[in-house]
Amino acid sequence: MKLLKLDEILQPAVDGGYAVPAFNFWSFAGITAAVDAAEAEKSPVIVQAIQPVVEYFSPDLVVAMFKRALTGKDIPVALHLDHGTDPAFLFQCVKAGFSSVMFDASSLPYEKNVANTRDVVSLCHMIGMKVESEIGHVGSQGAGDVTNYTDPEVALHFARETGVDALALSVGTSHSMPQQNAKIRFDIIDQVASELSIPLVLHGSTGVADKDYDRLDASHISKINIGTALGKAYLNRIYEIIENKDGVPFLPLINTMEGESSKSVQAVAQHKIRLLHSNGKASLY
Ligand SMILES: [Zn+2]
Repeated sequence: MKLLKLDEILQPAVDGGYAVPAFNFWSFAGITAAVDAAEAEKSPVIVQAIQPVVEYFSPDLVVAMFKRALTGKDIPVALHLDHGTDPAFLFQCVKAGFSSVMFDASSLPYEKNVANTRDVVSLCHMIGMKVESEIGHVGSQGAGDVTNYTDPEVALHFARETGVDALALSVGTSHSMPQQNAKIRFDIIDQVASELSIPLVLHGSTGVADKDYDRLDASHISKINIGTALGKAYLNRIYEIIENKDGVPFLPLINTMEGESSKSVQAVAQHKIRLLHSNGKASLY
């Protein structure tokens, strides 16, 4: 595997008009599904987990599972902490072997967000680590009822004050959207990109309509987080298997659930890779 830092995996996407998929995982099957999808599509990939998931496994165990899933795979990849909120825990992840981190203080008042993010970024830069952060809180309204759009002027100020290496904007999506009905504010993306050269990040992509991806990929959005769509694929397949379980012995049933749910996640991941136009881009690294 080619283990890359955040800037190393995103810069070719900024230059090349595609976006790198950042797949969230909750289990070992989630990691293997993301990695197998990337290998099948010859795509770079960011494998990531939110802080509570990493806390549950421990940073060391996540790194061990990641290395196991990548054994024998020749793909450009980053292991990323998503929505890290505790600086001490973030540095534990770096020490364990994560190659990329997000520090998220976006729920704090603006000045506190700037001060805390600046501290984390400067410490990370001392050890060569790059940092994603967020401005204009991407919430979890679920239904896509987004009102807290990023103010482009505030985004520019935040980026300059903190020195972040990639910036997540709130442009019309929210986490865990049930339908692909987000109204993306491309004007905000374009305005920020016209004055800021760092890669931009989209969270909550499960709410993005397939037709909007071409324009997103061509923009400065170069990391797109994909979590809910994978979680749904995983659970829906398990529900199907359990519904049709009559006569199947216990152990084969469990084995079927693991393997089949992982295949469902991989299929969705491959579809998203093609929407992001990152398929075939592994050779650029
Ligand atoms: Zn997010």
